[in-house]
Amino acid sequence: MTIRTNIRVKPKEGRRARAGAPWLFSNEIEMSNAAKALAPGAIVNVLGDDGRVFGTGYFNAKSLIAVRLLDPAADTAIDTGFFVEKLKRALALRETFFEAPYYRLVNAEGDGLPGLVIDRFAGTCVVQITTAGMETQLTALLAALDKTLKPANVVLRADAPARALEGLEIYVRAAKGEAGRTAVEENAVRYFADLTCGQKTGWYYDQRENRTFVAHLARGKSVLDAYCYTGGFALAAARGGAKEVAGLDSSAPALALAEDAAASNSLACSFVKADVFEELERLWSSKESFDVVLADPPPFVKAKKDLEVGAKAYRKLARLAANVTAKDGLLMLASCSHNIPTERFAAECASGIARAGRRARLIRQAGAGPDHPLHPMLPESAYLKALAFALD
Ligand code: SAH
Repeated sequence: MTIRTNIRVKPKEGRRARAGAPWLFSNEIEMSNAAKALAPGAIVNVLGDDGRVFGTGYFNAKSLIAVRLLDPAADTAIDTGFFVEKLKRALALRETFFEAPYYRLVNAEGDGLPGLVIDRFAGTCVVQITTAGMETQLTALLAALDKTLKPANVVLRADAPARALEGLEIYVRAAKGEAGRTAVEENAVRYFADLTCGQKTGWYYDQRENRTFVAHLARGKSVLDAYCYTGGFALAAARGGAKEVAGLDSSAPALALAEDAAASNSLACSFVKADVFEELERLWSSKESFDVVLADPPPFVKAKKDLEVGAKAYRKLARLAANVTAKDGLLMLASCSHNIPTERFAAECASGIARAGRRARLIRQAGAGPDHPLHPMLPESAYLKALAFALD
């Protein structure tokens, strides 16, 4: 048996972890020679200078978040059995909310598995690992997936940019079965996702409840879905009885999946390849408007340093989208940027709508659904914001 290395928290440091947060930053721990010699992602015990046990975690001397805790006890075995227990708990939570097996099965720290996201599409799981600590556990994790869900296909989407910060290789491959296109069922619509080449894991489960909201108010309305990707909001609105739906996106492969899904559900939607800012300007100048307008752009604030530029882009988008929202129409604006706080995003949306000369009532503020649980000590990991406004 190998003896596990102890990582020591510096005296008076680790305040958040003492209160229950699952992270220790590199400046909070003693970087001993033994610690520095550990391979990235090694399993360690974490102890305070006062003998306090922080628990079992994984360690990466090169990462700003040097320790991510996996268990409150020291010497916990991190093996297939550990992952089986975590996956069972994650699955039980999803099964209380969803009848069909389409959801985010694991949401990192929110499910006690830092560095790991798994999206489930019935018998196919897409695994996204972002830390060295989780990557070193891949064999145990895959064995646990087989014991709990027995998926026919497991796709490893090891291409998140965050992997570079942990010194991890970038790759996409099937660990089991096939990687490729799959069906997704949501809001009584059968969509398609490309698990290998699509964005992130191929599908955005985080918007499910916001799509439900839109489906419920779409009856008889004209709907514009800006940044429609594979048709998430557009087809939910069409299923909800919209009289006319248009989707805009710059990605031809995403639009092809949206069109296939529209055809397979016998729903009428028009999908157009366009730059959203340009197309909104064009629609505005040709005096076209829609009863319901949705805009769910890619992250405009990718890093903290981009906050001001990104905030301005959200404001402009709100203005252009309000311009094409019909009188008494509804406008929903979303942000998936970690790096803009909700209050700032809401302020930019309000300002953009006002600059369009419109008055608005904020009728809904939402985020991701219950298959995206958060660790309560890491509220900052909530990235999705969706605001719906009723315009005058
Ligand atoms: N609303 C979607 C997710 C949108 S993700 C859903 O519910 O699934 C953001 C989308 O913006 C991506 O599909 C990307 O291709 C698209 N995109 C990025 N820049 C764009 C631009 N300048 N114009 C149009 N679409 C763009």
